[in-house]
Amino acid sequence: MTTTSWPPIRAELAGIEPYGAPQLDVPVQLNVNENPYQPSAETVADIAASVGEAARTLNRYPDREFVALREGLAAYLSSDVEAQINPEQVWAANGSNEVMLQLLQAFGGPGRTAISFAPTYSMYPEYARDTNTEWVVGHRESDFAIDLEKARALVEETRPHVVLLPSPNNPTGTALPPEAVTALCEAVGEAGIVVVDEAYGEFRRTGVPSALELLAEHRNLVVTRTMSKAFAGAGLRLGYLAADPAICDAIRVVRLPYHLSAVTQAAASAALRHAPELLGYVASLREERDALVAWLRGEGLEVADSDANFVLFGRYADRHAVWQGLLDRGVLIRETGPEGWLRVSVGTADEMIAFKQALTDVNGARA
Ligand SMILES: *Cc1c(COP(=O)(O)O)cnc(C)c1O
Repeated sequence: MTTTSWPPIRAELAGIEPYGAPQLDVPVQLNVNENPYQPSAETVADIAASVGEAARTLNRYPDREFVALREGLAAYLSSDVEAQINPEQVWAANGSNEVMLQLLQAFGGPGRTAISFAPTYSMYPEYARDTNTEWVVGHRESDFAIDLEKARALVEETRPHVVLLPSPNNPTGTALPPEAVTALCEAVGEAGIVVVDEAYGEFRRTGVPSALELLAEHRNLVVTRTMSKAFAGAGLRLGYLAADPAICDAIRVVRLPYHLSAVTQAAASAALRHAPELLGYVASLREERDALVAWLRGEGLEVADSDANFVLFGRYADRHAVWQGLLDRGVLIRETGPEGWLRVSVGTADEMIAFKQALTDVNGARA
């Protein structure tokens, strides 16, 4: 008998650590790019009442097509950008991570290829691995922008079925110019889809357009969004996309039955009714971000330009020591990105003061 390891998991998954940032109970949590502001009592009461109403019919399966929620999401997107988005162009799931996994299930798979440009979101290769899609990664320039000539060449060479591009990019904060989205949609053509992951879209600086404005021009373009970041709803688990209705139809084939619970649908629709309040801190978070970038540069550090609610800074010979030093002072940030860099989420004004104080201490202690 041959010896095998237990449990009899797929060989390529054996021994792999599950993805996830440390969830530590510390006073200042700046590690997963959440919105630091809690909903108001009024919004909490409306969400609770809506969930209560949904509970009355929990003996029944939920609306599989989540029509009311799709209408709410389409209306919200149409208000955020210079474009009209209709409910049949919208699809949602339990976080945009699930939306993107569904895209890989429908458009990736054995014999198919997905690409992205590093450094980028560390979940993308996992969607590819989990769906048996070949994963190829190109590289960003030293300023973390994507060189269009190199990107076109990679598309020519790999003929991808899925291109995954976050804009703003995580962990660097870099937004993608509209010319890059257009160039990639044209290069990929009808053989594949281009997914622009706008998880941090609402934080983009003024003058930076959303890829949603290009949807009418490219039917192979998919733009994903989430309620986890700007919308202050990370606990909701609600992500969504806008695309050609035929792409939503393709996802229906792979989605699990009734994947969005009645509770999720009710809570998300209620949260959407309070969009102005929940998004009300975006402006001040952007100001805190710009101030943080300036402060870190003033400290002599290298800092990537950011259109998101986090900032990548460095470089440190021993970034782990800096991360640990901050943690010892009650400030949790993220050890991620290229070697030597660290990522900090933008929090409240008080949290930013605590972060700056702790970093000054750590740098002093190390000098
Ligand atoms: C946070 C994040 C998401 C959002 O994930 P959810 O599943 O919607 O919470 C998507 N893409 C990137 C790049 C992110 O950083």
